[in-house]
Amino acid sequence: MTAQRKVESPLVALKDPAELVRLSQQLEDESPQAILEWAATTLSPRVTFGTGFGLEGCILIDMIGRHHLGIDVFTLDTGLFFRETYQLWSDLEKRYGLEIRGVRSETSVAEQNEQYGENLWETQSNQCCEIRKVIPLQNELKSFSGWVSAIRRDQSPTRALAPVLSYDERFDLVKVNPLVKWTKEMVWSYARQNDVPFNPLHLQGYPSIGCLPCTSAVKPGEDDRAGRWRGSNKTECGIHAAPKKQKALPVLGRSVSDGGSI
Ligand code: SF4
Repeated sequence: MTAQRKVESPLVALKDPAELVRLSQQLEDESPQAILEWAATTLSPRVTFGTGFGLEGCILIDMIGRHHLGIDVFTLDTGLFFRETYQLWSDLEKRYGLEIRGVRSETSVAEQNEQYGENLWETQSNQCCEIRKVIPLQNELKSFSGWVSAIRRDQSPTRALAPVLSYDERFDLVKVNPLVKWTKEMVWSYARQNDVPFNPLHLQGYPSIGCLPCTSAVKPGEDDRAGRWRGSNKTECGIHAAPKKQKALPVLGRSVSDGGSI
Protein backbone atom coordinates (compact mmCIF):
# COMPACT_ATOMS: atom_id res chain seq x y z
CA MET A 1 0.00 0.00 0.00
CA THR A 2 1.39 3.39 -0.98
CA ALA A 3 1.52 5.90 1.86
CA GLN A 4 -0.44 9.01 1.00
CA ARG A 5 1.50 12.24 1.25
CA LYS A 6 -0.25 14.80 3.40
CA VAL A 7 -0.74 17.98 1.43
CA GLU A 8 -0.61 20.92 3.78
CA SER A 9 -2.83 23.91 3.09
CA PRO A 10 -0.85 27.11 2.56
CA LEU A 11 -2.92 28.60 5.38
CA VAL A 12 -1.69 25.96 7.82
CA ALA A 13 1.89 26.73 6.76
CA LEU A 14 1.25 30.44 7.25
CA LYS A 15 0.41 29.85 10.92
CA ASP A 16 4.00 28.71 11.40
CA PRO A 17 5.74 31.89 12.66
CA ALA A 18 9.06 30.97 11.03
CA GLU A 19 7.43 30.32 7.67
CA LEU A 20 5.46 33.56 7.90
CA VAL A 21 8.60 35.57 8.69
CA ARG A 22 10.40 33.92 5.77
CA LEU A 23 7.55 34.75 3.39
CA SER A 24 7.22 38.26 4.78
CA GLN A 25 10.90 38.93 4.16
CA GLN A 26 10.61 37.44 0.68
CA LEU A 27 7.78 39.86 -0.11
CA GLU A 28 9.56 42.84 1.47
CA ASP A 29 10.98 44.05 -1.84
CA GLU A 30 7.91 43.29 -3.93
CA SER A 31 5.57 46.02 -5.14
CA PRO A 32 2.18 46.52 -3.41
CA GLN A 33 0.56 45.16 -6.57
CA ALA A 34 2.67 41.98 -6.41
CA ILE A 35 1.89 41.55 -2.70
CA LEU A 36 -1.82 41.88 -3.41
CA GLU A 37 -1.51 39.33 -6.20
CA TRP A 38 0.27 36.97 -3.81
CA ALA A 39 -2.56 37.42 -1.27
CA ALA A 40 -5.24 36.88 -3.90
CA THR A 41 -3.56 33.69 -5.11
CA THR A 42 -2.57 32.24 -1.75
CA LEU A 43 -5.50 33.25 0.45
CA SER A 44 -8.39 33.41 -2.03
CA PRO A 45 -11.35 33.12 -1.76
CA ARG A 46 -11.22 33.99 1.93
CA VAL A 47 -9.21 37.19 1.77
CA THR A 48 -10.71 40.60 2.38
CA PHE A 49 -9.65 44.22 2.42
CA GLY A 50 -11.25 46.49 5.02
CA THR A 51 -11.13 50.13 4.02
CA GLY A 52 -12.07 53.37 5.72
CA PHE A 53 -11.56 55.17 2.37
CA GLY A 54 -8.29 56.84 3.31
CA LEU A 55 -6.02 57.65 0.36
CA GLU A 56 -4.04 54.43 0.89
CA GLY A 57 -7.27 52.44 0.84
CA CYS A 58 -8.34 54.07 -2.42
CA ILE A 59 -5.02 53.05 -3.95
CA LEU A 60 -5.43 49.43 -2.91
CA ILE A 61 -8.98 49.45 -4.31
CA ASP A 62 -7.51 50.79 -7.56
CA MET A 63 -5.01 47.92 -7.72
CA ILE A 64 -7.62 45.30 -6.78
CA GLY A 65 -10.21 46.70 -9.19
CA ARG A 66 -8.03 47.37 -12.22
CA HIS A 67 -6.40 43.95 -12.05
CA HIS A 68 -9.59 42.07 -11.09
CA LEU A 69 -7.94 40.46 -8.09
CA GLY A 70 -10.04 38.00 -6.12
CA ILE A 71 -10.04 40.06 -2.95
CA ASP A 72 -13.28 40.95 -1.18
CA VAL A 73 -13.63 44.62 -0.12
CA PHE A 74 -15.69 45.97 2.75
CA THR A 75 -16.01 49.04 4.93
CA LEU A 76 -17.18 49.35 8.51
CA ASP A 77 -20.07 51.72 7.94
CA THR A 78 -20.65 53.34 11.33
CA GLY A 79 -23.52 55.40 9.95
CA LEU A 80 -21.50 58.47 10.88
CA PHE A 81 -19.26 59.03 7.85
CA PHE A 82 -18.86 62.43 6.21
CA ARG A 83 -21.13 63.07 3.22
CA GLU A 84 -17.95 63.20 1.11
CA THR A 85 -16.95 59.72 2.28
CA TYR A 86 -20.30 58.22 1.28
CA GLN A 87 -19.94 59.88 -2.13
CA LEU A 88 -16.41 58.49 -2.50
CA TRP A 89 -17.67 54.99 -1.64
CA SER A 90 -20.16 55.21 -4.50
CA ASP A 91 -17.61 56.74 -6.90
CA LEU A 92 -15.09 53.95 -6.25
CA GLU A 93 -17.67 51.24 -6.86
CA LYS A 94 -18.67 52.82 -10.16
CA ARG A 95 -15.11 53.50 -11.28
CA TYR A 96 -13.82 49.97 -10.64
CA GLY A 97 -17.04 48.00 -11.10
CA LEU A 98 -16.77 46.26 -7.77
CA GLU A 99 -18.90 46.06 -4.66
CA ILE A 100 -17.57 47.53 -1.45
CA ARG A 101 -19.71 45.81 1.15
CA GLY A 102 -21.02 47.89 4.04
CA VAL A 103 -20.57 46.07 7.35
CA ARG A 104 -22.75 47.61 10.05
CA SER A 105 -23.39 47.34 13.75
CA GLU A 106 -26.54 45.52 14.80
CA THR A 107 -27.30 48.70 16.77
CA SER A 108 -28.32 51.65 14.61
CA VAL A 109 -27.22 55.15 15.59
CA ALA A 110 -30.82 55.91 16.66
CA GLU A 111 -30.93 52.76 18.82
CA GLN A 112 -27.56 53.65 20.32
CA ASN A 113 -28.83 57.12 21.20
CA GLU A 114 -31.87 55.56 22.81
CA GLN A 115 -29.96 52.92 24.79
CA TYR A 116 -26.84 54.83 25.83
CA GLY A 117 -27.84 58.48 25.53
CA GLU A 118 -27.28 61.03 22.78
CA ASN A 119 -23.78 61.41 21.31
CA LEU A 120 -22.09 58.45 23.01
CA TRP A 121 -18.92 59.42 21.12
CA GLU A 122 -18.65 62.49 23.37
CA THR A 123 -19.10 60.66 26.66
CA GLN A 124 -17.81 57.12 26.02
CA SER A 125 -15.92 57.10 22.74
CA ASN A 126 -14.35 53.70 23.39
CA GLN A 127 -17.76 52.15 23.93
CA CYS A 128 -19.05 53.85 20.80
CA CYS A 129 -16.14 52.46 18.73
CA GLU A 130 -16.70 49.04 20.29
CA ILE A 131 -20.36 49.01 19.25
CA ARG A 132 -19.95 50.57 15.81
CA LYS A 133 -16.57 49.18 14.71
CA VAL A 134 -14.87 46.54 16.84
CA ILE A 135 -17.76 44.09 17.33
CA PRO A 136 -18.92 44.27 13.68
CA LEU A 137 -15.31 43.70 12.56
CA GLN A 138 -14.89 40.71 14.87
CA ASN A 139 -18.04 39.14 13.45
CA GLU A 140 -17.06 39.93 9.88
CA LEU A 141 -13.54 38.53 9.98
CA LYS A 142 -14.71 35.14 11.26
CA SER A 143 -15.30 34.08 7.68
CA PHE A 144 -11.87 35.11 6.34
CA SER A 145 -8.33 33.73 6.42
CA GLY A 146 -6.56 36.83 5.16
CA TRP A 147 -7.03 40.50 6.00
CA VAL A 148 -5.41 43.19 3.86
CA SER A 149 -4.72 46.51 5.56
CA ALA A 150 -3.47 49.83 4.19
CA ILE A 151 -0.99 50.79 6.90
CA ARG A 152 2.35 52.45 6.17
CA ARG A 153 5.44 52.34 8.38
CA ASP A 154 5.91 56.10 8.34
CA GLN A 155 2.40 56.81 9.68
CA SER A 156 3.24 56.43 13.35
CA PRO A 157 5.79 54.91 15.74
CA THR A 158 3.47 51.96 16.45
CA ARG A 159 3.46 51.13 12.75
CA ALA A 160 7.15 51.76 12.11
CA LEU A 161 8.14 48.08 12.25
CA ALA A 162 5.05 46.54 10.70
CA PRO A 163 5.91 43.51 8.55
CA VAL A 164 4.40 42.74 5.15
CA LEU A 165 2.78 39.64 6.68
CA SER A 166 1.80 38.87 10.25
CA TYR A 167 -0.45 36.35 11.97
CA ASP A 168 -3.29 37.93 13.96
CA GLU A 169 -4.28 35.63 16.80
CA ARG A 170 -7.34 37.67 17.67
CA PHE A 171 -8.97 36.95 14.35
CA ASP A 172 -7.01 33.79 13.46
CA LEU A 173 -5.93 35.07 10.08
CA VAL A 174 -2.98 36.36 8.14
CA LYS A 175 -2.69 40.13 7.97
CA VAL A 176 -1.24 41.49 4.74
CA ASN A 177 0.21 45.00 4.58
CA PRO A 178 1.12 45.76 0.93
CA LEU A 179 1.89 49.46 1.47
CA VAL A 180 4.20 49.26 4.48
CA LYS A 181 7.23 50.56 2.59
CA TRP A 182 5.48 53.43 0.85
CA THR A 183 5.78 57.02 1.99
CA LYS A 184 3.04 59.62 1.98
CA GLU A 185 4.62 61.17 -1.13
CA MET A 186 4.59 57.83 -2.98
CA VAL A 187 0.92 57.39 -2.13
CA TRP A 188 0.00 60.83 -3.49
CA SER A 189 2.16 60.30 -6.55
CA TYR A 190 0.42 56.99 -7.37
CA ALA A 191 -3.02 58.52 -6.80
CA ARG A 192 -2.30 61.42 -9.16
CA GLN A 193 -0.61 59.33 -11.86
CA ASN A 194 -3.49 56.86 -11.91
CA ASP A 195 -6.29 59.36 -11.36
CA VAL A 196 -7.50 57.46 -8.29
CA PRO A 197 -10.66 58.98 -6.74
CA PHE A 198 -10.01 60.30 -3.22
CA ASN A 199 -11.83 62.19 -0.50
CA PRO A 200 -11.84 65.95 -1.30
CA LEU A 201 -11.56 66.61 2.43
CA HIS A 202 -7.89 65.58 2.14
CA LEU A 203 -7.34 68.90 0.33
CA GLN A 204 -9.17 70.84 3.04
CA GLY A 205 -6.97 70.01 6.03
CA TYR A 206 -8.16 66.46 6.78
CA PRO A 207 -5.24 64.06 6.18
CA SER A 208 -6.95 61.36 8.27
CA ILE A 209 -10.71 60.96 8.06
CA GLY A 210 -12.91 58.87 10.34
CA CYS A 211 -16.43 59.46 11.68
CA LEU A 212 -17.74 62.99 11.33
CA PRO A 213 -18.24 63.67 15.08
CA CYS A 214 -14.68 62.57 15.90
CA THR A 215 -12.70 64.14 13.05
CA SER A 216 -11.50 67.72 12.73
CA ALA A 217 -9.08 69.49 10.40
CA VAL A 218 -5.42 69.66 11.39
CA LYS A 219 -3.38 72.83 11.64
CA PRO A 220 -0.07 73.28 9.78
CA GLY A 221 2.68 71.35 11.56
CA GLU A 222 0.30 69.03 13.40
CA ASP A 223 0.51 65.26 13.11
CA ASP A 224 -1.70 63.74 10.40
CA ARG A 225 -3.87 62.05 13.03
CA ALA A 226 -4.12 65.08 15.34
CA GLY A 227 -7.67 65.74 14.14
CA ARG A 228 -8.95 62.35 15.28
CA TRP A 229 -10.67 62.42 18.69
CA ARG A 230 -9.22 65.86 19.27
CA GLY A 231 -9.17 66.90 22.92
CA SER A 232 -9.06 63.34 24.25
CA ASN A 233 -6.32 60.78 24.86
CA LYS A 234 -7.84 58.41 22.35
CA THR A 235 -5.70 57.80 19.26
CA GLU A 236 -7.04 54.55 17.80
CA CYS A 237 -10.51 53.05 17.52
CA GLY A 238 -9.48 49.69 18.99
CA ILE A 239 -9.66 47.68 15.80
CA HIS A 240 -5.94 47.17 15.71
CA ALA A 241 -5.21 47.01 19.43
CA ALA A 242 -2.54 44.40 20.10
CA PRO A 243 -4.19 41.19 21.30
CA LYS A 244 -3.33 40.00 24.79
CA LYS A 245 -1.39 36.98 23.58
CA GLN A 246 -0.24 38.18 20.18
CA LYS A 247 3.08 36.73 19.17
CA ALA A 248 5.55 39.45 18.27
CA LEU A 249 7.03 38.44 14.95
CA PRO A 250 10.67 39.20 14.34
CA VAL A 251 11.12 41.36 11.27
CA LEU A 252 14.60 42.01 9.95
CA GLY A 253 15.98 40.79 13.26
CA ARG A 254 13.66 42.86 15.47
CA SER A 255 10.38 42.22 17.24
CA VAL A 256 7.23 43.99 16.24
CA SER A 257 3.62 44.21 17.27
CA ASP A 258 2.01 45.85 14.30
CA GLY A 259 -0.85 48.25 14.10
CA GLY A 260 -3.11 48.62 11.14
CA SER A 261 -5.83 50.64 9.61
CA ILE A 262 -9.17 50.20 8.08
FE1 SF4 B 1 -18.15 56.49 17.54
FE2 SF4 B 1 -16.33 58.35 17.04
FE3 SF4 B 1 -15.64 55.75 17.19
FE4 SF4 B 1 -17.06 56.70 15.13
S1 SF4 B 1 -14.94 57.21 15.67
S2 SF4 B 1 -17.44 54.81 16.22
S3 SF4 B 1 -18.38 58.21 16.17
S4 SF4 B 1 -16.40 57.08 18.86
